[in-house]
Amino acid sequence: MNTILLASNNAHKLKEIRAILPDFRILSLSEAGLDIDPEETGATFYENALIKARAAFEASGLPSLADDSGLSVAALDGAPGVLSARYCGRHGADGENNALLLENLQNVADRRAKFVSAVVLYRGENDIVAAEGETVGEILFAPEGSGGFGYDPIFFSYDLHKSFGIASEQEKNAVSHRGRALRALVERLTQVQ
Ligand code: IMP
Repeated sequence: MNTILLASNNAHKLKEIRAILPDFRILSLSEAGLDIDPEETGATFYENALIKARAAFEASGLPSLADDSGLSVAALDGAPGVLSARYCGRHGADGENNALLLENLQNVADRRAKFVSAVVLYRGENDIVAAEGETVGEILFAPEGSGGFGYDPIFFSYDLHKSFGIASEQEKNAVSHRGRALRALVERLTQVQ
């Protein structure tokens, strides 16, 4: 089975990516004994995914996969976007990020939003395969369910007709930005090999 290093220690992403890519052996950074956290200075999800995948490859020599993802809200001109993980000012504070987003959308009727995921598989500077996936929906007025992570409880999926917080892992992975991006990446891999 092909081993891929995931350029992340996010346990939720790791679990989802393992379920979406059952034919690969996915190692997290900590499982590979690596402690790297490159600065995400990119202006786009793709640029940040490339920074993370390249850093993981340079530290390990293993084929390295990165997902950079986030939520883009139409009424907020695409925010929080690449700043999704640190919207409230602190990295990874999901509850505070959700509270701030609900506050910023308090009297906003147009609640359309999409999750975006850019994935990059880096196997050397001349061997970079990338793909992107999106999933659309809208921001609820209050959280529904407690499944998933990040903005899942306040994201109502148009595909599933329920929030990602209520959806099962399988349901979410079937329509999610990450599921779509990774399936497109695998498709691309079979074309380039
Ligand atoms: P990254 O780790 O820099 O890619 O940041 C991703 C951030 O976007 C997460 O911390 C979440 O806030 C948000 N996000 C990305 N994907 C999802 C998802 O599938 N559900 C909920 N929030 C997500």
